[in-house]
Amino acid sequence: MTQVIGQEYLQSQLLRAIQRGTIAHANLFWGSAGTGKLAMALWIAQTLNCSHTTPEGACLKCPSCQKIYHLIHPDVYWILPTYKNETEKKRTSEDFADEIRQFLLEHHFYPAYAQWVEKLDAHNKQTAINIEDIRQIKQKMSYAPFEGHYKIVILWHAEKMRPEAANAFLKLLEEPPQNTIFILTAPTPEQVLPTIQSRCQNAFFAPLNQKSIVNYLMHTHKTDESTAYKAAFLAQGNLNEALRLIHQDTHTFDDLVQNWLRACYSVKYKEMQEISEVLSKLNRETQKHFLTYLLHILRNALIAHYEAQTLLFVPDNIKEFTTKLGKTLSIESFNALYQTLSQAMEYVSRNVNSRILYLTLSIRISKIMSRQQKAP
Ligand SMILES: [Zn+2]
Repeated sequence: MTQVIGQEYLQSQLLRAIQRGTIAHANLFWGSAGTGKLAMALWIAQTLNCSHTTPEGACLKCPSCQKIYHLIHPDVYWILPTYKNETEKKRTSEDFADEIRQFLLEHHFYPAYAQWVEKLDAHNKQTAINIEDIRQIKQKMSYAPFEGHYKIVILWHAEKMRPEAANAFLKLLEEPPQNTIFILTAPTPEQVLPTIQSRCQNAFFAPLNQKSIVNYLMHTHKTDESTAYKAAFLAQGNLNEALRLIHQDTHTFDDLVQNWLRACYSVKYKEMQEISEVLSKLNRETQKHFLTYLLHILRNALIAHYEAQTLLFVPDNIKEFTTKLGKTLSIESFNALYQTLSQAMEYVSRNVNSRILYLTLSIRISKIMSRQQKAP
């Protein structure tokens, strides 16, 4: 079962508020993706309705805790931005309840918005929280809680409320129904209507520290230590990203990175062409991961350039290469490579022809690197 990862201080403050009965009836959890806003909202809903509360909050085992976790508790409402699906006649979060349940469980309550759009297959559609959602909540608020002590309404990406939905929601906040707790989440408070924001208790979710992510990956997902460290490092405090990274094998990238840069350095056109071919055949997401990984290796090479090997954060099998690369390249070359690769990342997002992209990229990298003296 998902616990809240990191955020111990915030969690203890919220727990104290629950225990004292002073929890705000409206809360705005803000911060970047993968920091645990929804996991915390889930835990609050569980703690408020748990039948065997412990001094640390929800027991996570009783029927109430279980039902809330599986999104089948009648007093906890999840509102996510949706779109109008004409063919299946779906519109509100209630209509999309199955998709929401699958999605949140799949991502262990650490989801990212792009994954939700993907799940809904709503790429070219406007996703939003609509007035119908707010009307449904309002109607539900008029009954007493069915099973629990509290009704909890969780609005993910509350900044995506349409103006008429936001106004209706504001009215709801102005006359707060009894025993109801609202939890809104958003990337930043400024994105939420000021009149709503000012009625909420704001809580900032900082990026997670590396140690919390490593522990979680190793204990809950049985990730080996080196993969866990690598994912935690690359994820920069975003658990969603870390989870994605452990399911992706960067080992295969290590060989590609080394062979490609070596071929470019030695200006071996045939090899450059072959590797470009391999890269262009990867799907776009993998291409982005590959380029991100290459940029990561470059950053580490730059650290090695300053002889700070102890700071290197790359897998053992590519450490020597990274160190040599660092010794080989000048600062100008680093800058040039960094710019070239960052630009390539943009091109990948823009659906350009991959074969031409990697061929051109190979030649550019080759030109930048061959100005150097020694081979990495
Ligand atoms: Zn419980």
